[in-house]
Amino acid sequence: MTSSNQPAQDKFGFCFDNSYSRLPGVLFARANPQQFRNPSLVIFNQHFANALGLNVDGLKTARWTCFSGREIPEAALPIAQAYAGHQFGGFNNLGDGRAILLGEHIAPNHQRVDIQLKGAGATPYSRSGDGLAGLGPMLREYLMSEAMHALGVPTTRSLAVMLTGEVVYRAEQLSGAVLTRVAASHIRVGTFQYAAAIDDMDALKALAHYTINRHYPALENHPQPYIGLLEAVIDAQAALIAKWMQLGFIHGVMNTDNMSIAGETIDYGPCAFVNAYSPKTVFSSIDKNGRYAFGNQPTMGEWNLTRFAESLLPLLAETQEEAIPIATECLNQYQTKYRGYWLNAMRKKVGLFNSEPSDLALVEDLLMLMYKHQADFTNTFSHLANSNQLSAALMADGGFKNWQIIWHERLSRQDQTAAEVAALMEGHNPLVIPRNHLVEGVLELAVQGDMEPFHEFLEAISKPYQTPKNEKYLQGASAGFDASYQTFCGT
Ligand code: AMP
Ligand code: MG
Repeated sequence: MTSSNQPAQDKFGFCFDNSYSRLPGVLFARANPQQFRNPSLVIFNQHFANALGLNVDGLKTARWTCFSGREIPEAALPIAQAYAGHQFGGFNNLGDGRAILLGEHIAPNHQRVDIQLKGAGATPYSRSGDGLAGLGPMLREYLMSEAMHALGVPTTRSLAVMLTGEVVYRAEQLSGAVLTRVAASHIRVGTFQYAAAIDDMDALKALAHYTINRHYPALENHPQPYIGLLEAVIDAQAALIAKWMQLGFIHGVMNTDNMSIAGETIDYGPCAFVNAYSPKTVFSSIDKNGRYAFGNQPTMGEWNLTRFAESLLPLLAETQEEAIPIATECLNQYQTKYRGYWLNAMRKKVGLFNSEPSDLALVEDLLMLMYKHQADFTNTFSHLANSNQLSAALMADGGFKNWQIIWHERLSRQDQTAAEVAALMEGHNPLVIPRNHLVEGVLELAVQGDMEPFHEFLEAISKPYQTPKNEKYLQGASAGFDASYQTFCGT
């Protein structure tokens, strides 16, 4: 550390500090990336690298070796993090089985971000897994996370994908790849569950202090910082899930190990966007009972937060009897917070600047009509003001005509001009989302070595609120595509 507390910059522009590895040792294990023989770069996020203050020339000269784990930046201290998690409701001890944290980079704006390699080989938490990843799933995470960022959703980011030059054995042989993931941190609900489950109060307390200091520093002066932490995480998740719900995003595997304490969307496995609107939409091949269906996400968020509160109980009061009502009171705020964030955003999607008691019914009636006619979630909102582009089925419904009359009356009761209403709607209704058929199309070519369509699509979804150069990014899939579409965890 230099005297200004800013770590020294290495030849890649990284300024590593490794504060997580100063936590009690039960929370992590040292883990070195596998030495792949012949790694090569597939994609690099130059724009993001610049924002992080990295030395792109230095990275290039070294042939991007730090992104495959072949070269460990000088001040990095690679570890795998321990965590547990409820996976589809069942509790398991997990940990980073196919991810290695190089350390925390301090960006020029003083933000501390985790730099993690996903798919860089086995760790002490890999159990029977190989710690490896295939190119398709890593490029999928790259695409989806960058799309979410562009849509304005808190999310982990993607810095690079490298081919390892080696084969990964799954149901079929895949090209091995490593994703460099950047996150506010990788502290999960499951990290707290792990500390609580091993009954290590020192570790739990240290983790809570660390989290407060790193993500919610204002709480350091809170009279009861652990209660403050619980409230802050509840608030961050309510806000995050409301964003997913206003955009049609289905995470797909909202296990507690995949819920970030910093409130970022994390672990892009089987995620997908809703096209024809239905709250029941599930794409993940492993979500047989629809636990993480689109419309269930707010409820599952609350379920996960309840597990978080349980793990904090020993810190909330002297006895469990005293702690439970405190936790319950915090959890009871979730629904109100979630609904508030959601309705606020939905108001903007239909052009409302202020609030009236009937707004909830207005929004719900529209969703009901969209559900009835299987209307496209994204395009219905983006075409709402321009109804000649709406689906014929919706337009033919007298109920929808009635809804439009009520909506126009509602719009006329506010002071803003039509242009202002249009601008508000345009800012909250994306035109381009990573639609399933488009994602699969570009990934299929990318794994065969043709990255051109991937880059073109990435460019379009990086500006989701602008009309794309190519019209095809605006269109839904052909009838039936989604009905049989399945996503996979990529493990
Ligand atoms: P995920 O479904 O990606 O959230 O992963 C759930 C758990 O399985 C995490 O603890 C992962 O680290 C672990 N895991 C997933 N894939 C692998 C793999 N190929 N090798 C070892 N561990 C894995
Ligand atoms: Mg995970």
